[in-house]
Amino acid sequence: MIRSFLSLLFVFLFVVSVKAQYRKEIQIPDIPGYVTLKCDFHIHTVFSDGSVWPTIRVREAWEQGLDAIAITDHIEYRPHADDMKKDLNRSYEIAKPLADQSGIILIRGTEITRKMPPGHLNAIFITDANKIEVDDWFEACKEAKNQGAFIFWNHPGWKAQQPEKTLWWEEHTRLHDAGLMNGIEAYNSDEYYPEALQWSREKSLTILANSDIHDPIGYNYNPAVTHRPVTLVFAAERSVDAIKKALENRQTAIYFEDKLVGEQKFLEPIFKASAKIVSAPVSLENKKTKYVMVHNSSDVDFVLKSTQNSVGYGYKKEVTLKANRTTLIDVSGKSDEVKNQSVLKLEYEVTNLIIAPEECMKVVIEVANK
Ligand code: ZN
Repeated sequence: MIRSFLSLLFVFLFVVSVKAQYRKEIQIPDIPGYVTLKCDFHIHTVFSDGSVWPTIRVREAWEQGLDAIAITDHIEYRPHADDMKKDLNRSYEIAKPLADQSGIILIRGTEITRKMPPGHLNAIFITDANKIEVDDWFEACKEAKNQGAFIFWNHPGWKAQQPEKTLWWEEHTRLHDAGLMNGIEAYNSDEYYPEALQWSREKSLTILANSDIHDPIGYNYNPAVTHRPVTLVFAAERSVDAIKKALENRQTAIYFEDKLVGEQKFLEPIFKASAKIVSAPVSLENKKTKYVMVHNSSDVDFVLKSTQNSVGYGYKKEVTLKANRTTLIDVSGKSDEVKNQSVLKLEYEVTNLIIAPEECMKVVIEVANK
């Protein structure tokens, strides 16, 4: 009897232990002068049309290596209203103690949810969501701004609201001119909006990528095969104020699927801090082949395609620097000239690091040759 009880206990403990939760960091390095914070600023709970309790959002964020989240329940769309206490601040208040305990920065937010135009807008860093429940959408945005909000346009190309084409309406100009639109989602859920990237450049908007998650996060993004979209915020430190300042200064890039999109001044230092040569100088000679070993310590595969023909040596034209792996790149001597070159330049474009619409980042891997 005792024996079977003990074996039952053992089974129970085993089940408990395999169910233990783990945090998996997102490996994207800091860049000089900034910490690289991984953030999701668009999340729903049962307090609007989500199916998850607020504390679970914090646990999901912790497990998936995030630094900061904003819970942004809809003001105007709350299908569970009959079952929930009516207080637009509740989801934040319920989530906050666990966020504090687990080191997740929780930002108070809400989603101003209107038909197009202007569509859906998230206001984050607000102080009281209840006061933003105002009939007129422009006044709602003004109230959010008075509370100190950073406001961004959600899923600008969402087919339910922009079925034909992703358009910028005059209502958006009105908001933008009044300082009531500060950012734009270039990626939401599983959709990329290149128009938003273009507008972010023309109109000085901050780009963001967010999950807009409604169901448990694992339903949409199986952690074994993919990751949720995140906004990378380059902040002076890990705090609410520093995140706000960074967003206002457009210090973001976005990470979705296998891509990083953002300005070169951010993506270049990320690449440099991630991909490093770990092999000795090659001492290449004509008709010989040597290997260069490049270790990529980030979670992003870097997909390289060569852009230049080199003189005196050749190198692999297409190579992927796999995430968290060391990749061999072979270089071959093509003439005696190679002996005179102290540095061999491997010139590539990284096809999944996007710095402008239709433009990927170029890199030079410099190999010592002596
Ligand atoms: Zn939403």
